[in-house]
Amino acid sequence: MMKKLYIKTFGCQMNEKDSEQVRILLEDSYVKTENPEEADLILINTCSVREKPEHKLYSEIGRFKEYKLKKPDLIIGVMGCVAQQEGQALLQRFPYLDLVLGTQGFYSIRSALEIIKEKGSPVIFTDLKENFEIPLVLSKSKGVRRVKAFVTIMQGCDNFCTYCIVPYVRGREISRAPEDILKEAEELVVKEGVREITLLGQNVNSYGLKERGYPDFAELLDLISQIEGLWRIRFTTSHPKDLSEKLIKVLSENPKVCKHIHLPLQAGSNRILKRMNRKYTKEEYLEKVSLLRNYCPEIAITSDIIVGFPGETEEDFEETLEMMKIVQFQEVFSFKYSDRPFTLARKYPDKVPSEVKEERLRRVHSLQEAITKSIYESYIGKEVEVLVEGRSEKDPNKLTGRTSTNVVVNFSSPRLDLIGALVKVKIVEAGKHSLRGQYVESLRV
Ligand code: SF4
Repeated sequence: MMKKLYIKTFGCQMNEKDSEQVRILLEDSYVKTENPEEADLILINTCSVREKPEHKLYSEIGRFKEYKLKKPDLIIGVMGCVAQQEGQALLQRFPYLDLVLGTQGFYSIRSALEIIKEKGSPVIFTDLKENFEIPLVLSKSKGVRRVKAFVTIMQGCDNFCTYCIVPYVRGREISRAPEDILKEAEELVVKEGVREITLLGQNVNSYGLKERGYPDFAELLDLISQIEGLWRIRFTTSHPKDLSEKLIKVLSENPKVCKHIHLPLQAGSNRILKRMNRKYTKEEYLEKVSLLRNYCPEIAITSDIIVGFPGETEEDFEETLEMMKIVQFQEVFSFKYSDRPFTLARKYPDKVPSEVKEERLRRVHSLQEAITKSIYESYIGKEVEVLVEGRSEKDPNKLTGRTSTNVVVNFSSPRLDLIGALVKVKIVEAGKHSLRGQYVESLRV
């Protein structure tokens, strides 16, 4: 009989993908469940990029203790960035844990479970190898259909922004073999009917630059776009310093590459950008934005912003607001700075008080709300192409999908056969987080 696997995933899309890889690695002996009480294996895939999700994780692990008391055979494991960061310390803090699998170690989950079965002792896999090869993990199960999927193209980061824990918990930048990327993408399209693939990496723009004989990221996009049956390609995340004109050209000219880029700005003051070790100035950032808009006027740009980085003055912060007004980001993910283990910025003495960070975050939110509103309103009356992803969660009578520019569009239709189709929708209303439209016609099914 198949056992049951419950996975709780915190954090970014990379973590979502890693959880999916684990599910596939265990698919011949475990089926997924949404109910942790009936699980034989509980995994918590963790994020340590910010302080808040890390704290949430600790209360989550505590919650599962009672299940273990009721069911002693239950295996509980932690994977991802906190597992990598804390290793053995997690076992000391939570003695009922069986598994600690780091950001490379989770690929060895099958052997870890074997060891637990044979020896009955907890297992920790947290080695980070510089020459690690990201394995090709393909599902053998039949009948799974989905519209979109992630494909990891690289892992780790070499940039060492002074606030960021990623290089310490995901290791140095490693690009995955292009033939493995293509094979995985092709399988997703052919076997699961995937129409849209999002390529994942901490810094996709530097894909293949360290590995001899690999294509660069622009070339990789062109290669993937040759897969028949694949309609759309997205990617995330791009570091502004590595965004080349060659890539911008592919973005504008290749019809399968979506007209959206996530380009984290982080701060608008050159002094703060330098302290963050971002390796670009605001002027250089604006040059990249101009280049993007010259080649591809319809491009949507989204961004990340950190408020209250150590030493950020009111003037520095106002420069961030100014940049938001100039660039007109479609959306911004904004965060209050928090000290992270291992990083340089945690040692900076001039921390910004928490109430100031709070107030700055509110100002970023309210400015961005107004900018997003005006961008969304500019869609009203236009016809847009939407890849239909499924029923709307809020209203099951509506279908939902995204434009190439990554805006969510909901529209009424009883036709479930449109899920997975590319349709034309006329936009009639702009909400805070999505657009509402009327179905016009099917473009591709
Ligand atoms: S580029 Fe900077 S922020 Fe992004 S993952 Fe690397 S170190 Fe972290």
